[in-house]
Amino acid sequence: MNYNVKSTIAEEFINDLEIRETMTYAKENSGNLDLIKGILQKARECKGLTHREAALLLECNDPDIINEIYEIAREIKHRFYGNRIVMFAPLYLSNYCVNGCVYCPYHLKNKNIRRKKLSQEEIRQEVIALQDMGHKRLALEAGEHPVENPIEYILESIKTIYSIKHKNGAIRRVNVNIAATTVENYRRLRDAGIGTYILFQETYNKTNYEMLHPTGPKSDYAYHTEAMDRAMQGGIDDVGIGVLFGLETYRYDFIGLLMHAEHLEATYGVGPHTISVPRLCMADDIDTNDFKNAVPDDIFYRIVAIIRIAVPYTGMIISTRESEKSRARLLDLGISQISGGSRTSVGGYVSPETEEENSAQFDVADHRTLNEVVGWLLDLDHIPSFCTACYREGRTGDRFMQLLKSGQIANCCLPNALITLKEYMNDYASDDVKVKCEAMIKKLLATVPNEKARATAAKYLDAIDKGERDFRF
Ligand code: SAM
Repeated sequence: MNYNVKSTIAEEFINDLEIRETMTYAKENSGNLDLIKGILQKARECKGLTHREAALLLECNDPDIINEIYEIAREIKHRFYGNRIVMFAPLYLSNYCVNGCVYCPYHLKNKNIRRKKLSQEEIRQEVIALQDMGHKRLALEAGEHPVENPIEYILESIKTIYSIKHKNGAIRRVNVNIAATTVENYRRLRDAGIGTYILFQETYNKTNYEMLHPTGPKSDYAYHTEAMDRAMQGGIDDVGIGVLFGLETYRYDFIGLLMHAEHLEATYGVGPHTISVPRLCMADDIDTNDFKNAVPDDIFYRIVAIIRIAVPYTGMIISTRESEKSRARLLDLGISQISGGSRTSVGGYVSPETEEENSAQFDVADHRTLNEVVGWLLDLDHIPSFCTACYREGRTGDRFMQLLKSGQIANCCLPNALITLKEYMNDYASDDVKVKCEAMIKKLLATVPNEKARATAAKYLDAIDKGERDFRF
């Protein structure tokens, strides 16, 4: 198979030979500082990097170069995202699963885990609990089970979630992380009004993928790898990709991830909306020590920083799989979305998991409440944003990318972040966090460049104090 970025055949756009040649090229040139400095110059101009250029940066161990990579990542993050961090929470609908993924506790043969699927009424209760925390954006998660979790169940659940209005709460964007499916089903998800369709590749290495997924529909490498093509063909133009770091050597999957992004951009004119960077965690029946490719923190930070500069316009997500310490570091290097107050068990927001309960997907490393995470972000000078405006205004796919590239973010996203933080402050924050929100809103409102946008934002903030909700630019 030859490498072809525009092909829709998995093994052509994620080409094993091209990945291996890229690894060799990166190793051979890792001491070529002139070449590397040229790449850094290109990165500074926010032109993005090819997978070969990015792989070379990752291979370079020169401390000055590494510091420069971090500095450029910080600059790019600030240029496109300011200090806003979008907040979300996962909602686990069902852990029934027919797959045999050897790293996931949902695998069919795991008899320890309690299987659970939420009814529509239970979903209602979970969503009310999430709304009462202050969440506006969810990521739906479900195992793959054609009988227990068919597409109709997912669609009905999305409808239920959007319909719930409790006090001032509302879920305004539902992202969906479910197994690879057909073009027709992607079309139905789009028609149900989902935000991003998220699917992790787990690993791009076909041979390893087949060993890690020995049974079930997910064992089909091509079907899984080509899922985002089908999602795009089904009209979903915000897709989120990711690998589960720790399954395969990080070098291989880092290159595969960037090749996937290049493929989507080249073929559909729009790259991935988000990239997630989960690392393998301990879970029921899963011992991370059985996997030999764990990614150490220092390499992981470099990976995040280089992805940031390689695809400057793509949002980057980390979950509560990462600890507070590692999240603080990663936020600075390019992460633009984090989850907060997450529960990874089915029904976990209403009744936190007990030993006997045991329905969680993995052990989270950050156990803080959303309010604590919001206060912490503000202390670190980040703005927690509950904004969902773009997708509700139809700014998806390339229209979203245009906004980002035009630099109008400061007149649009910043006010939206402040307005939604104000809603959070008035409705959900503890007294000490309220003080921090107020100070941040005051400080940043003054920095909105366009006078008209600043005045409108000030008007909306006043209206929120008077009880009105849901303004957006
Ligand atoms: N069923 C869907 C699919 O087939 O892709 C995805 C839903 S699953 C709930 C979400 C993700 O959790 C998986 O794609 C996988 O990357 C991740 N995951 C599974 N086991 C994990 C573990 N032990 N530690 C960390 N993440 C894990």
